[in-house]
Amino acid sequence: MLIAVNFDQPMEALVVLLSGHLDSWDVGQGAMDDGGGAAISWEALSLIRDLGLRPKRTLRTVLWSAEEPGGVGAAQYFQQHKGNISNFDLVMESDLGTFSPLGLQFTGSDKARAIMKEVMKLLAPINVTSLEKHGEGTDINMWMKAGVPGASLHTADQRYFWFHHSDGDTMTVQNPEEMNLCSAVWAVVAYVVADLEEMLPR
Ligand SMILES: [Zn+2]
Repeated sequence: MLIAVNFDQPMEALVVLLSGHLDSWDVGQGAMDDGGGAAISWEALSLIRDLGLRPKRTLRTVLWSAEEPGGVGAAQYFQQHKGNISNFDLVMESDLGTFSPLGLQFTGSDKARAIMKEVMKLLAPINVTSLEKHGEGTDINMWMKAGVPGASLHTADQRYFWFHHSDGDTMTVQNPEEMNLCSAVWAVVAYVVADLEEMLPR
């Protein structure tokens, strides 16, 4: 049997992307904006690895640089990877605080939304089943505008602007139990979507 391999075009990974931005520049430490989003995106992969799970598609965490000056890192990443846009299954960003999770904000087709609703039912044990509208995030907007399904984490963020870009945004505002719940939501959504038989329909 002869197997043809085209070395000129290596097969690009099919990707579920998890992300937060790692570029505190203002006063404070940027723990909530957006250290928390970066940490849970890292922790989700760590959890999945610790559990010995390996989904069908690649899970990729991106810790964005230069979001605060205007999404510079995300724009560069988009330029470098948009040629493989059909390989991006779901893009996720947490940038609204890592307080107690309430649900997932989602942008995608009706068919994709119906699938995501089912995925969120898996989170009933921690009572985070709500699938809302309007996925958002400076760093994932370009992908969503180009038709890639996108998700952002909605948390009980009433206190977000107490700390946002202030001297108060330090590690002490992070609650480890709430961050664990955020990591759990991130891990379940990313893993399950990456392990579905098919990619989310556009
Ligand atoms: Zn931010």
